[in-house]
Amino acid sequence: VGTQPNPSDTAPVALSYELFPPRSPAAAETLWTTIRELETTAPDYVSVTYGASGSNRDTALELIDRLLLETTLRPLAHLTCVGNTPEQLAGVIGQLLDTGVRGILALRGDLSNDASQPVNGSLRYAQDLIELIRRVEQRRSALLCAGKVAVGVAAYPARHPESPSEEHDVEVLLAKQRSGADFAITQVFFDSSQYLDLLSRARRAGVTIPIIPGVMPFTSLRRVKRLGELAGVEPSAELTERLAAADTDIERLRIGVDATVDLANAALDAGAPGIHLYTFNEHQSALEVLDKLALPRHTRAGSLSVANRTQLAS
Ligand code: FAD
Repeated sequence: VGTQPNPSDTAPVALSYELFPPRSPAAAETLWTTIRELETTAPDYVSVTYGASGSNRDTALELIDRLLLETTLRPLAHLTCVGNTPEQLAGVIGQLLDTGVRGILALRGDLSNDASQPVNGSLRYAQDLIELIRRVEQRRSALLCAGKVAVGVAAYPARHPESPSEEHDVEVLLAKQRSGADFAITQVFFDSSQYLDLLSRARRAGVTIPIIPGVMPFTSLRRVKRLGELAGVEPSAELTERLAAADTDIERLRIGVDATVDLANAALDAGAPGIHLYTFNEHQSALEVLDKLALPRHTRAGSLSVANRTQLAS
């Protein structure tokens, strides 16, 4: 009595993972082990990052191609526009569509350290890239006998480092929706209230597209600090102190997984339509988080978390 129904009890929760193209043959081998492990959880899609200015275009396209040909996974191709002209980008979009990609995450990309402004002639904002994707799609729709391309965008629970305010971020998200975005994935955040605030600000402003929380497993102190710096968000002192004080990798994994699961559950309780896990091309932490979240449709058969394994062993 008096409790609100949990939307995650009724609506199916989407699951996705982020991967990045490998930088060496050894990294590729590790990545493919990860891909095979993640595949067993039947994610809705896996996203593949793309360097700002297209620095890793060939390896990104190669990975996407292999995912389509050799796995059951559906790739969501990240695409950045900074440093690239509309003609160059239209070429890459065409290539992605030809390969069979039907989902693109339209991003500006981070500006390089020596450039505070995008290069002359390149698209300026993610919004411009969404419009370009829709134009290319329209031109080719007569040739493609396939459904509409799903276009995702970035959203920011904590203010984007270059943005004057959270309100401005929401105006930008609304503009992306108007330009044709279908859904958004958030930047890393450490406090569920930041995601909840973004949701309520966005809904008040008229944003109706799903906003999927991007969640990183908090199992590496170095990574937590680094991502916090990049996203311009301070991780909680309690989390960093507990990770720093952990004596063993197993303990660190358990602390990080528990904190991540708490964050993801808080987002789901607030009505998040799915969870997007930043994997860093490693499956162990992501799968531990998933086991504890126990999402319907995405449970690994015979899965046993570290906590359970340790209990059984003792
Ligand atoms: P935009 O939406 O264009 O915003 C960039 C800045 O411009 C913001 O400060 C915004 O407030 C402002 N702005 C936007 N539109 C307007 C406007 N019309 N008028 C005035 N101001 C405006 N980076 C990569 O390089 N490769 C990746 O693969 C990648 N993947 C990512 C995945 C996710 C889920 C997220 C959240 C981020 C990812 N990034 C990636 C990082 C992203 O490129 C950076 O956060 C970048 O700084 C901003 O990208 P954006 O798409 O949000 O840009």
